Amino acid sequence: MHFTGTVYRNPYWPTFPLLEITQGCTHNKCKFCTMYRDVPFRMSPMEWIEEDLREIAKIAPGATIIQLLSANPLALSYEKLEPILVMINQYLPKMAYIYAATRVTDIRNKTVEELKKMRELGVKEISLGVESGDDATLDRINKGYHASDIIEQCNKLHEAGIDFWMTFLNGTAGREHSRDHAINSAIIFSQCKPMLVGTGGLTLFPGTPLLEEAHRGEFSPLSEREMLEELLLFVENLTCDCYFITHHTVSGKNLTGPDFLKRKDKIVSALQHEIEHGDMDLLATIRRNKRTL
Ligand code: SF4
Repeated sequence: MHFTGTVYRNPYWPTFPLLEITQGCTHNKCKFCTMYRDVPFRMSPMEWIEEDLREIAKIAPGATIIQLLSANPLALSYEKLEPILVMINQYLPKMAYIYAATRVTDIRNKTVEELKKMRELGVKEISLGVESGDDATLDRINKGYHASDIIEQCNKLHEAGIDFWMTFLNGTAGREHSRDHAINSAIIFSQCKPMLVGTGGLTLFPGTPLLEEAHRGEFSPLSEREMLEELLLFVENLTCDCYFITHHTVSGKNLTGPDFLKRKDKIVSALQHEIEHGDMDLLATIRRNKRTL
């Protein structure tokens, strides 16, 4: 199998099979991320993709799901993606679910008709690492799009029948802008109606521009308690029904699950309890020990 540089896979999807069809990230400029700094974006050679599919087909000829790599494989144009999707179906004829993480901007270069064809070829679920629905925060972390882009591209996904996840990056606006980040993200996420909302807490990793800004006093990271307060504000303002996942260090408190609106009060109470009684030193230690996003 061909794997280049960092392999980031959705931890909620099976670890096998994974198929690298691109390397690196087309954007590579988010201020909190160094995952692909040394890996220039490119499409994998078709021979590699075919070799890997042959290998997967030998081990699991009846595979029904597959996860595409790397950071944003759907950045490829429809013309480039189509032969890859066709090949996946040829080697794995029972294929039902092709999944990929991707950027909002990767949907922009595809028409709804093309997205529908991708769905027919198996792309039924994707994950958008949106991080925020607040324009000032999106600019601050250099995501390369705005809230209006998120809404526009999510509407296309709905029209094409492709389910999508959206992630909220707790803490990424810093102290000064935390409130707007939480509330405006909840408003935009609610409008977009994703099948799943995931939340993760910002960790400032060595080498990231955001950590350098923090060292220079230009970015004020949230404390663990402030992170939870921001997450609470986001949850309180989120009004779409969805599966809700949090990778936050409080996730042991059973906040993850389906039917968000039915469970919202319980999630709010759990967060309030954690804010008042949680062991913030323990949460900080868990975060300090994290090695990747
Ligand atoms: S967070 Fe995602 S889009 Fe941003 S640089 Fe990292 S891999 Fe690329």
